[in-house]
Amino acid sequence: MNDWRQNLLNWYEANKRDLPWRNIKDPYKIWLSEVILQQTRVNQGWEYYLRFIKNYPTVSDLAAASEQDVLKLWQGLGYYSRARNLHAAAHTIVKEYEGKFPAKFESIRALKGVGDYTAGAIASIAFNLNYPAVDGNVMRVYSRLFGITTAIDSTNGKKQMNELAVELLPAKNPGTYNQAVMELGAMVCLPSNPQCESCPVQQACYAFLHKNMLDFPVKQGKTKVRNRYLNYIVIVQKDSILIRLRKSKDIWHGLHDFPVVETDRPITQAKFLKDKKWNEVVLLRNPVLKDVSEEYVHLLSHQKLFARFYLLEIVNGKMELPADSFWIKINDLENYAVPKLIDLYIRKKILK
Ligand code: SF4
Repeated sequence: MNDWRQNLLNWYEANKRDLPWRNIKDPYKIWLSEVILQQTRVNQGWEYYLRFIKNYPTVSDLAAASEQDVLKLWQGLGYYSRARNLHAAAHTIVKEYEGKFPAKFESIRALKGVGDYTAGAIASIAFNLNYPAVDGNVMRVYSRLFGITTAIDSTNGKKQMNELAVELLPAKNPGTYNQAVMELGAMVCLPSNPQCESCPVQQACYAFLHKNMLDFPVKQGKTKVRNRYLNYIVIVQKDSILIRLRKSKDIWHGLHDFPVVETDRPITQAKFLKDKKWNEVVLLRNPVLKDVSEEYVHLLSHQKLFARFYLLEIVNGKMELPADSFWIKINDLENYAVPKLIDLYIRKKILK
């Protein structure tokens, strides 16, 4: 191999970041790092990776943990289905492979939550198998290098990208090559500020030669974001607080929050209080309004949440509890896995 790929590999050897999951061959650790790093910055992911390795040094340790413990450890990373899938896949590995990580691409790909990218990364890095690992960084690099005008988020675009990635994959050390392309995307070929002057593949780059780096990658269009208005009812009685476990097929499955009145448009505090809207989820006898929070705006991948918390105190706790809710001691709140939005509120208003 004596083309731009050699320059890339040389650059990678000299410049790669010293990350805790680098230079390892343990498929469990590689898998863990890949799952954690999806949608997460390296700095943040680093801490979580070390935390997981410390608590669950092997895949069997992870499988033996309770889902709640795994979610609690994951708290703050978001996209909680990743944690649930991780846990479910650990179970599969223990049950079907006696705790030994499967070494075939198809078996890795069949694990819950593992897509082509993650399976390719594990197969190539841990087992030296010839599979590409195409993530957003790789797509950006290739689309600029080759001037690809098919939208990378279209079916055709993905297919084209995958074929190209297979074609470019060197027979020797595919894992190192995959990591080198990803590293170039993460460190040099940046989304809005590509560092072309210091890029090892500059001479071969279509976008650099045409000075139109920012025209790539081409995308079809942004996913529509849905607005949701959450009016949380936070009920306290003496030293207890009512929380609920989210069980529906919605965001934050398996995490805890509070009973909520969701409205399809914003509702003012005055109207919410005047209409005693909490009666829609829980009938309260003479609650005392202790606080109304400011509005919290929280962005998820496809949803924008506008949340307000109404803190109500009651004297008589005898009531019909809303579905999946239960009382806990306020001091125990920290032991329950909650989404980041709820964590922010709790720390500011309840555990202050
Ligand atoms: Fe990206 Fe610029 Fe390098 Fe091309 S030359 S791969 S656009 S950093």
